[in-house]
Amino acid sequence: MRNALLRCKSCGANYDARTPTFRCECGEPLDLVWDGGEGAAEKRTDRAIFFPFEEGEWVSLGEGNTPLVSVKDFADELGLADVQVKNESANPTWSFKDRGTAACVAHARALGFSRIGTVSTGNMAASVAAYGAAAGMEAVILVKGDTDEEKMAPVAIYGPTLLRVEGAYDKLYKESIRLGAELGIYFMNSDVPFRVAGSRTIAFEIAEQRGFSVPDWVVVPTSAGGNLRGIINGFEDLLSAGLTDRMPRFLCAQAQGCSPIVAAFDAGEERIKPFESPHTIAHAIENPFPPSGNRVLAELRRYGGVALGAKEKEIVKAQKHMARQGFFGQPASCVPLACLRNAREEGLVAEGSTAVLIMTGSGLKYTAAFQAHKLKWKDCKLKELAEKMR
Ligand SMILES: *Cc1c(COP(=O)(O)O)cnc(C)c1O
Ligand SMILES: [Zn+2]
Repeated sequence: MRNALLRCKSCGANYDARTPTFRCECGEPLDLVWDGGEGAAEKRTDRAIFFPFEEGEWVSLGEGNTPLVSVKDFADELGLADVQVKNESANPTWSFKDRGTAACVAHARALGFSRIGTVSTGNMAASVAAYGAAAGMEAVILVKGDTDEEKMAPVAIYGPTLLRVEGAYDKLYKESIRLGAELGIYFMNSDVPFRVAGSRTIAFEIAEQRGFSVPDWVVVPTSAGGNLRGIINGFEDLLSAGLTDRMPRFLCAQAQGCSPIVAAFDAGEERIKPFESPHTIAHAIENPFPPSGNRVLAELRRYGGVALGAKEKEIVKAQKHMARQGFFGQPASCVPLACLRNAREEGLVAEGSTAVLIMTGSGLKYTAAFQAHKLKWKDCKLKELAEKMR
């Protein structure tokens, strides 16, 4: 691994990236500062330039390079010039999490760790378990005591050390960090620096796929806030490398049922407060006290972004409408469409703009959402088939 810095954009502190540092002493998250520099002139955005790792440190399952697809129906409906879906369900474990996991695994290997871990029940758990398997590293996955079998099995299949832990979830998170440091396990929880650094590749790909023309808006379903921060950093890196000529604006999309960032944004606050009794079908974005929340607020204001919520009904409708265009995303990943609609209604996004919706994960990850839809089919006998099909 080459020499690089982790910087706190809040207090300005710098840390050596070749150490297992996961958070600033001031409590705010850290961002990778790395200007590989050379190669930018050739309009290259590959990891050799934008990450401080040696090629041998990477373990890839083929993450990234996901499709970016224009949906004319959405553009027409919303009065926009172009609406594109960045389909992150095309990743190895069907969510964008693989991008950050791959970067964290490279970092863990560079620092000599042989064990990795995470606290999660959803996409993160599956991603870390899969990359642990691929890298030949033990993956320690900690999940809440009430997690049901339907969620355990798709993680267990990769062969990690999977521990279902009784007790308070916030304490589990803190314990994982303490025990990780003590036992030498690289815990890649929600918004650790290299997870965020991995999400920059979403911005790199959007720029490349659009011929280095930056969209007006990028709409990101937001929970901890790491993915949105990574995408913002990616567009900053492109701009400072001279590959693009401006920043997009960002729409932080949350479910109204768990919208701590929207609440603080609307109140003009600089710091988020814990959201009381969160509840939403978009369970992948149900973090009531996002660790990157303060940072996201600052970045939104810096680039003229907004934070908006979507109602449960709007999320279900968006999931249906995405599917009717051929995109089956889990509820959280359809929140961007719902929020873009609200943003258009409120006049926050101008007519004729271009927008990219980040569809963060696959609909097959959360089949319980089928119950929110009135899905129909018909039964018939073989001899009735011709009649039914006429
Ligand atoms: C993790 C996740 C998110 C939220 O990302 P954050 O970095 O926590 O803001 C959104 N959608 C899906 C499908 C996820 O798995
Ligand atoms: Zn700091």
